[in-house]
Amino acid sequence: MDKKVYIAGGGLAGCEAAFYLAEKGYKVKLYEMRPNVMTPAHETEFLGELVCSNSLKSTLPETSSGLLKQELMKIGSLILDTAEKCKVPAGSALAVDRIDFAKGVDSAVRNHPNIEVIEKELTDIPSDRPCIIATGPLTSEKMADKIKERFGGGLYFFDAIAPVISFDSVNMKKAFFKSRWEKGDNDYLNLGMNREEYDIFYNALIESEKVEFKDFEKLNVYEGCMPIEEMAARGHQTLTFGPFRPVGLRHPVTELKYFAVVQLRKENSEGTAYNLVGCQTKMKIHEQQRVFRLIPGLEDAEFLRYGSIHRNTYIHSPGHLKRTFQVIGDENLYFAGQITGVEGYLESAASGLLAAYSIVHPDFEGFHEETALGALARHVSGEVAENKKEYVPSNFHFGMLPGLGKKIRDKKLKKQMYADRALKHYDNFPLS
Ligand SMILES: Cc1cc2nc3c(=O)[nH]c(=O)nc-3n(C[C@H](O)[C@H](O)[C@H](O)COP(=O)(O)OP(=O)(O)OC[C@H]3O[C@@H](n4cnc5c(N)ncnc54)[C@H](O)[C@@H]3O)c2cc1C
Repeated sequence: MDKKVYIAGGGLAGCEAAFYLAEKGYKVKLYEMRPNVMTPAHETEFLGELVCSNSLKSTLPETSSGLLKQELMKIGSLILDTAEKCKVPAGSALAVDRIDFAKGVDSAVRNHPNIEVIEKELTDIPSDRPCIIATGPLTSEKMADKIKERFGGGLYFFDAIAPVISFDSVNMKKAFFKSRWEKGDNDYLNLGMNREEYDIFYNALIESEKVEFKDFEKLNVYEGCMPIEEMAARGHQTLTFGPFRPVGLRHPVTELKYFAVVQLRKENSEGTAYNLVGCQTKMKIHEQQRVFRLIPGLEDAEFLRYGSIHRNTYIHSPGHLKRTFQVIGDENLYFAGQITGVEGYLESAASGLLAAYSIVHPDFEGFHEETALGALARHVSGEVAENKKEYVPSNFHFGMLPGLGKKIRDKKLKKQMYADRALKHYDNFPLS
């Protein structure tokens, strides 16, 4: 008899899970509401669309995202394989051509003989089992209500998107290509500001009109994707120590040092579109035009996509989910992706893979907590004491791993030791 699995949501977690299960011989029914019903952030009909940045972060082995990538590759990851195939230069980060990436994931999933994609909005948790709910942070309202009913209230925070501008509209007499400290190729386009230019930009940003929310006073933003104006409001120079930091970015010809540098990263492999790194915003559209055009070199910027901000829903996973992403008390129901309170593209994909892995390996109780995947699952399952009280979505970081048992002063060496220790666990694990 065919082994069947039902998946709600064809995003990063849903596609990762569907592909893994299909490769293991499961017949997958994948429900995706787009293009019939769109979310506020997705722009295409493709499965696996990235909604904001086109970066899947660092590939360096001694970074947390580097370790997560290595672990995912050991199990087999459609998301990472596809990213590799359509990467664009971005120093040591893995950045992709957004459209090629989504098309790649879409065609791998839709063309798999074991996967049937059904373009339909699910308005309730299906009764079919096993079932993975991976409807993401922008889960449609009816479904979100049902999930809230079942799990007793929902939680949320706000996520912001950065604007994208056309390369042709940048004044190349002012902009220059360079990577910070010349690490990697000259992948970033940089726009330097002196103190006076920064002050003009800063004041305009602070005074700009922002989109108001009904529950604005409860605005709860995720630190990793904080709107630029929120960050700026923390202090006059916060940006110059954050996304606009000028260190390692002297002008390559004049050697000029800047007070602040805005970096632009390629959005597509042709290099016709660039996003303003760190400039996610909730400024009104006409204000985005006015304020960002104050940056030297962007006077005539043509906006291909404006920045925006969206509500991001997640469940209180601790107390509801096991390390295997199974629902406690309904073990054939799984949740995966950002809706579980993991944060980030890779982490969302990772949780989809973990849920699928749990279905294929019924005796699986979770990866070792010294691994990135194990630590992430531990965070979600509430085995971290503080999470039981106040649960905050998180991407994977080394702070989630148990200590090394000795003090290591060299930070790079310490991270390398964490990574080596994590990867050793995979030598003893059934990865097939
Ligand atoms: C505005 C915003 C910006 C973000 N920016 C970044 C970023 O820059 N970097 C980063 O690492 N992470 C970012 N994230 C966080 C997160 O990594 C992404 O949201 C990621 O796509 C989550 O993966 P997922 O599979 O959980 O959800 P998604 O990729 O959103 O997939 C969920 C899918 O389910 C579908 N769906 C929803 N409801 C239903 C339904 N009822 N029936 C059927 N289908 C349904 C949706 O259409 C969607 O295709 C951002 C999140 C938001 C909301």
